[in-house]
Amino acid sequence: MRAPETSKRLFVATGAYSCGKTTTLRHLAATRGYRVHGEAHRRVLDELGARTHGHPPDAPFRPIDAPDHVCPLCRKREFAARVLETQKAIEASANDGDWLERGYLDPVEYYLRTSGEAAYPWPPGEPAFERYALVFLFAVMPELQAPRWGRSSEARGDEAERINQRLGALYRAAGFEVVDVGPGTVEERAELLVSRARLDGTARGA
Ligand SMILES: [Zn+2]
Repeated sequence: MRAPETSKRLFVATGAYSCGKTTTLRHLAATRGYRVHGEAHRRVLDELGARTHGHPPDAPFRPIDAPDHVCPLCRKREFAARVLETQKAIEASANDGDWLERGYLDPVEYYLRTSGEAAYPWPPGEPAFERYALVFLFAVMPELQAPRWGRSSEARGDEAERINQRLGALYRAAGFEVVDVGPGTVEERAELLVSRARLDGTARGA
């Protein structure tokens, strides 16, 4: 049985923290006029506002047990569900040829990493997400990894490598074509993205 043809081609940029996704997508929007959708995780954090606050940025994590507090680490399952709902809304509002910062397997990777579980506990009847045309996996650039949460830049770079390996594995296991975006300047990476996206359009049209 053939998979149904998707109604629109959406391109996803994924990768660990500080790999240059946001900068490259902003560059694509500014220099080539593409429509870019910011990541669902960030949108949920913004919507929850003060309900996520309370963790000092320069100290190791300690859980906050307060009824109103809903941060990604203290309420892992609830936060992941919110991000996935927001991801669906973003994909529903996106047009053919748009770019998404992160896809639906990014919050799943986050959940698996922070919870230690082996699989995401999808509720029954979870609606499908879009079949992304291509998934671009941004390589870790160690010089972009700044110390944070009480961890050195080297430790964060090592974690970013592990995150990238899992992201690539998750998207490939779900049947997506994953394109590796190596280190480079913003313009070099932007050019790789648009040239691969154009090739994908040509292949489909042929
Ligand atoms: Zn918290």
